[in-house]
Amino acid sequence: MRFVFVFLLPFFILSACQSKEETSKNVEMYNASGDMVGTAQLLDGPDGVQVKLKLEGLTPGFHGLHVHEYAKCEGPDFKSAGNHLDPEGKEHGLMHPKGPHLGDMPNIEADAGGLVDVELMLPGATLKEGKMSLLRGEGTSLIVSENQDDGISQPSGDSGTRIICGEIKSGKGNEATESPTDPTEFNEKQE
Ligand SMILES: [Zn+2]
Repeated sequence: MRFVFVFLLPFFILSACQSKEETSKNVEMYNASGDMVGTAQLLDGPDGVQVKLKLEGLTPGFHGLHVHEYAKCEGPDFKSAGNHLDPEGKEHGLMHPKGPHLGDMPNIEADAGGLVDVELMLPGATLKEGKMSLLRGEGTSLIVSENQDDGISQPSGDSGTRIICGEIKSGKGNEATESPTDPTEFNEKQE
């Protein structure tokens, strides 16, 4: 019996390593017409999630950027993504004394050519499991708005229409339709 345990131990350790939680996520960003206009690279770190955002085709100037509560970017209005991600019941705005929402971020600035290339932080957020996770449930989404966020007006800083959306998908909740069952594994479980 002991021999069997020692023999199997390395396999348990190996499988534990393979099921390690995600530490990065690539997100494709789409405009209201459904055209891909950029990418966001999310990287989990000790202080939060770093967001590397690259976009094109924007009106030059400042735009709001927020993480919203559902991984559903249905154009043209992207209302399907819900409100700003707010797991702690706070008020909106980086300048609000009772804020901010977890999903509130600084405004981004598009240059004269309509390009954005920035690195931002979402302090306190994570890609791992938990209350502050961007991958809770089926995930969340990253949305750019037409106007800049004033940092204090409720509920979303008077930032106007949602113009670009990217789904931060966890891969959970839709496994049945996306990944067919491995028949070998199924048979093994039956025995
Ligand atoms: Zn907010």
